[in-house]
Amino acid sequence: MPEGDTVFRAARLLHRTLSGRLLTRTDFRVPQLATTDLAGAVVTETVSRGKHLLTRIDGADSWTLHTHLKMEGTWRVVPPGARWPRPVHQARVVLEAGGATAVGFSLGIVELVARAEEPEVVGHLGPDLLGPDWDEDTAVHRLLELPERPVGESLLDQTRLAGVGNMYMAELCFTHGTHPLTPVGAVPDLLRLVRRARLMLDTNKERAVQSTTGNLRERERMWVYRRDRSPCRRCGTPVRVDQVGPPGRERAAYWCPSCQPALAAPPA
Ligand SMILES: [Zn+2]
Repeated sequence: MPEGDTVFRAARLLHRTLSGRLLTRTDFRVPQLATTDLAGAVVTETVSRGKHLLTRIDGADSWTLHTHLKMEGTWRVVPPGARWPRPVHQARVVLEAGGATAVGFSLGIVELVARAEEPEVVGHLGPDLLGPDWDEDTAVHRLLELPERPVGESLLDQTRLAGVGNMYMAELCFTHGTHPLTPVGAVPDLLRLVRRARLMLDTNKERAVQSTTGNLRERERMWVYRRDRSPCRRCGTPVRVDQVGPPGRERAAYWCPSCQPALAAPPA
């Protein structure tokens, strides 16, 4: 699942490739936009809001193309005539401008909304860890609105703060010494955790590979994420994986039983 910094980089790629350019061809390969043609319109900008991408396009009307990578999606820029990096049938959006082709593959959301309707597609989000609206106090406040909820689940809830996926959730709980199932209201120094979230994404948004340990070597980039059964980098205890989240929407949470002890059960 792409994290906020991956989406930020995708927005930057689209922005650099398309902004200020006239669209020479568009192809929307989703049923609801099958007849839409925006050739002749001009792309003004692409921004990310949490894990959402907003590509603003001005023609006869002001449109916003709203896309979301969900689990498997990606935006790639392909030079003219070059082979696409993914199978053609996975393409959902093709935007040609200035001699380059931007192709969105396996996108989880593709919709075109009037510019004025942008708040309806991203207005529910909490403060964006990499956005101009970032506000750590608001993020802490939103997390604490549901104090009983496990911190791992709360960090993934984009309406609390926007940009954390499974990977950073595990790494944040580890570096904070907190079990992912700890009620968020019982996590000490939540402000520090939120600040670290911002730092992790901000550091990684400039990197080609994501690392939370600071080590960029393969297999050494993460503290616990996808390292179940491997020894914890701090204490050697085998890393474990559990599920967090509501039934039907569980996510894998990696954790070290020594560095992130579970809270003792409350007295009955
Ligand atoms: Zn450990």
